Amino acid sequence: MKNNKFDIVIVGGGVVGASVAYELSKDSSLSIALIDIKKPGNATQASAGGLWAIGESVGLGCGVIFFKTLSKKRQENHGVIGEVARPHQLPPFFFDFCLKSNDMFPGLYKELIELGACDFKLEKTGLKFIMYDQDDLKYAQGIYNSIPHLKDQMAWLNQEELIIDEPFINKKAIGALEFLKDDQVNPYLLMNSFRDGARINGAEIIKGEVTDVEVINGKVQSVTVNDGKIYCNTVVNAAGAWAKEIGNMVGLSLPIEPVKGQVLLSEKLPPIMRSCISTSDCYIAQKDNGEVLIGSTTENIGYETSGSLSHLRSLAAGAVKALPLLRNIDCKRTWAGLRPGTPDEVPILGPVDGIEGYLNACGHFRTGILTSAITARIISDLVNDNEPIIDLKPFLLDRFSKKVVNHSVEKMEDILT
Ligand SMILES: Cc1cc2nc3c(=O)[nH]c(=O)nc-3n(C[C@H](O)[C@H](O)[C@H](O)COP(=O)(O)OP(=O)(O)OC[C@H]3O[C@@H](n4cnc5c(N)ncnc54)[C@H](O)[C@@H]3O)c2cc1C
Repeated sequence: MKNNKFDIVIVGGGVVGASVAYELSKDSSLSIALIDIKKPGNATQASAGGLWAIGESVGLGCGVIFFKTLSKKRQENHGVIGEVARPHQLPPFFFDFCLKSNDMFPGLYKELIELGACDFKLEKTGLKFIMYDQDDLKYAQGIYNSIPHLKDQMAWLNQEELIIDEPFINKKAIGALEFLKDDQVNPYLLMNSFRDGARINGAEIIKGEVTDVEVINGKVQSVTVNDGKIYCNTVVNAAGAWAKEIGNMVGLSLPIEPVKGQVLLSEKLPPIMRSCISTSDCYIAQKDNGEVLIGSTTENIGYETSGSLSHLRSLAAGAVKALPLLRNIDCKRTWAGLRPGTPDEVPILGPVDGIEGYLNACGHFRTGILTSAITARIISDLVNDNEPIIDLKPFLLDRFSKKVVNHSVEKMEDILT
């Protein structure tokens, strides 16, 4: 470690922390440290890399929610099919948050490549929700009709059009609803690209675990890492599913819990899909190197990252149903990651009353790849005393201490029971 004093220390070097470090590093007058230790279940490395702004907002990025792990109240919010539940839609401010972030990616891509950072493989693929029956059609119509202002970003494909567009799709599919701007990146490379950009701009990246944050008279003073102190004016909590631990260090109770997602990856294949695909069984994305990623489960079972055969089998079955040629393809790898979940599925961003120099950038649940860009802009606006680019109220931690917010907020215990 070259220095033990920085203007800003970011705790957690996943996609969110790395994005924040990069954005802040554009101001050369700020000294920045990004501190990270890789914990098993790091969400960014586990992710599918979907920039599914509409898909995520309507819930398709969940893949499959295992109904039995949800509370009674949440079961009522979801359309239940057998053992799994259909995801529910998030409020309008969340669409806006996701869409704005998605719009930032082409600019970020150009900027990072020009700076000499690694290529994070931004691919204009779109996302198709595949319909097999009238229930799926009804569900897709519900989505389409609920967001009339976004109709220009959606397209209906009948069976014939779908087969022309996706020749390997199950011929029994009756059509698709396509989200035209819901693209994809390589999530691991996105994180590395942000890190590269931050490093090139002069930020320091420190390997180590933050074990304490010192606050004196309501003001952040330092963090403890690798048994040494690093002094700072501002600390940003970007510790993903472990953000609660950092919150505890400054006396906060953050309602963030790990939400496990399992994924399968195929061997490399020639191009078999034009778009990413979502069905009521799973989602499927062919990545830039030809591997086909099949996700994902949504399980509230703590810090647990093992693979379970029954869940992986059901994802594989869903993928083979959508793309029958996958039946004879080798599975190269499976893994599980921990999404940083919040009770209302909305991130926790910004300052908290009574702790000067502390900022939240956590709780990104299933959209942290997509919303890393706007999160970084918001944190940069706050650090520079600018008006944030969106209304921060629904993202602030204090929404959980109020009885009524824009949409239903449940206690974490309710969700986990
Ligand atoms: C299976 C799966 C699929 C997904 N698919 C998508 C998708 O298609 N699109 C999308 O937008 N999102 C997706 N997500 C969600 C997305 O991956 C997360 O929202 C995002 O990665 C969260 O990023 P993060 O930086 O907050 O957390 P992480 O990536 O988990 O990073 C947090 C980092 O902080 C470190 N850390 C924790 N505590 C400390 C400490 N005390 N000191 C130092 N370091 C610490 C951790 O080890 C970790 O490296 C998916 C998630 C999963 C699991």
